[in-house]
Amino acid sequence: MKTDIKYDRNILLICLAFVVMFGVVAGYPAEFLAVFLLAYIAVQYARLRTLYQWARFSEPKEIPFEKGLFGQLAELIHHSTKQRLVEKESVKYQLDRFKKLISVFPDGVVILSLKNEIQWFNDQASRLLILKKEDTGQLINHLVRHPRFTHFLKNFKDDDVIVMEAPSAETNWSAEKIEIRLLPYGDDERLLLIRDVTKIERANQVRKDFVSNASHELRTPLTVMKGYVEMLLASSSDETVQVASLKKVDQQVVKMQTMIEELLALSRLEEGKVDDSQASINLRGLCEQIKAEFQSAADKRKQALIFDIPKTLNIKANKASLLTIMRNLVGNAINYSDEKGEIRIGWLVDDQGQGSLFVKDKGSGIAPRHLTRLTERFYRVAENNVKNKTGTGLGLAIVKHELDRHEARLVIDSQEGEGSCFQCVFPPERF
Ligand code: ADP
Repeated sequence: MKTDIKYDRNILLICLAFVVMFGVVAGYPAEFLAVFLLAYIAVQYARLRTLYQWARFSEPKEIPFEKGLFGQLAELIHHSTKQRLVEKESVKYQLDRFKKLISVFPDGVVILSLKNEIQWFNDQASRLLILKKEDTGQLINHLVRHPRFTHFLKNFKDDDVIVMEAPSAETNWSAEKIEIRLLPYGDDERLLLIRDVTKIERANQVRKDFVSNASHELRTPLTVMKGYVEMLLASSSDETVQVASLKKVDQQVVKMQTMIEELLALSRLEEGKVDDSQASINLRGLCEQIKAEFQSAADKRKQALIFDIPKTLNIKANKASLLTIMRNLVGNAINYSDEKGEIRIGWLVDDQGQGSLFVKDKGSGIAPRHLTRLTERFYRVAENNVKNKTGTGLGLAIVKHELDRHEARLVIDSQEGEGSCFQCVFPPERF
C-alpha cells in the first residue's frame, strides 16, 4: 500500500490556492477562505472518527485510508495490532502448554495470591481439595476449613509440610490423607502443592500396627506360660495340676511356633525367597490330599467336607503354594463354623473365563466392615476369636501373598451369621 505524508499537504495547498483565487475573483477572499477552512475541519473530523471506529476493533479488516497522514496512521495501528495478536497467540500457546503440563502432574497445584485468593488450580487439586471452577478468586481458607490447614497458612515457613485428612475423603475419591506444601512463586504469588499420601500413610500404619501386634501376640502366650510355670513350681506335688499346666504351656508353645513359622513364611514371600517352580497341578488330586489332612478335624466337629472339583482340572501353579492356600482356607472354614456345619470346596468359571477355586462354609460369617482388612497381618475379628483361640491372624495374609505370586486374587463374600465364601480367582492362562 502506498502512503505519502506530503499528499495531504499538497491537496490542502492546491485547494487553498483555488479558494483564494475564486475569492479574489468573486470579491470575497476572506469569506471564501473561512468557509473552506470550516469545511476542511469538518472533513478531517469525520476522517478522524472513521479512523477511531476502525481502530477500536481488535482485528481490523480493511484499512480505511490508503494515502496521506491518515493512511500512514492506519498502517501503523494495523501493524501494531497484528503484532499484539501474534504475541497474544504465543502467550496463549505457552499458557496452554503450561496448563497441560500441570494437569498431567500427579500432584495437585493451586496458585494463590499473597492474600490466599485462588488464582488457578489443576484437576488433581480440584479433586483432592474439592475445588470448583467458580472458586477461583475465593480465599482458600474459606473453602478448606481444616484447622491444621488454617494454622499452616498463617504460620508457614519455607519447607514446612503438613499431612492432614483429605477433604475429599468424605466423597467417593479414594484419597484419605494429603500432604501439603507451600512455595513462594514469583513476586506476589504462592504455589500450594498437594500430594495424595494415603498409600504411604497406610503403609506406615501397617508397619506400626505390625510391631505392636507382633509384640502383643508374642507377649500373651508368654504371660500364660509364665503363669502356669509359676503354678507348677508352687504345686510341684500335685500330678494332675502339673499335667494340666504342662498341656496349657504346650498349647501356647505350639501357638508361638506357628506364629513364628507363619511370620517367616510371610517375610520369605515378601522378599521373593520362595520356590518359583510351577507345574501343571491336578486340582482334584491336591484336594484329596487336603481332605485326608482335614477329615478327622471335620469329623470331630461333625462337619461335612464336600469336594466338587472336575477330575481333569489342572492349574499351572506352585504345588506348595496351592497347599498352603487350601490349608488356610479349609482350616478357617472348619474353625469358624459351628458343629454339624457343611463346608463345600468347588470350582467355577465366570463369564470372563476366570476360574475360582472356592471354599464355602455356613459358619459365623464376617461383618462387612472387616472384609477389606482380613488380609492384613494379625487382623482378627474379635467376635470370631472365641471360636478359634489358637489363630494367629496371619493365615489370610499368607493366602493373599501366595495368590499374588500366581496373578490370582482373593475375593471374600460373607454374610454375618450365614457363612462365608473365599474365592481364589485365577486368570484364564493358569488353567
Ligand atoms: P486366624 O489365624 O485368626 O484364623 P486368618 O488370617 O486366617 O487368621 O483369618 C483372619 C480372621 O478372619 C480370623 O481371625 C477370623 O476372624 C476371620 N475368618 C477367616 N476365615 C473365616 C471364616 N471362614 N469364617 C468366619 N471368619 C473367618
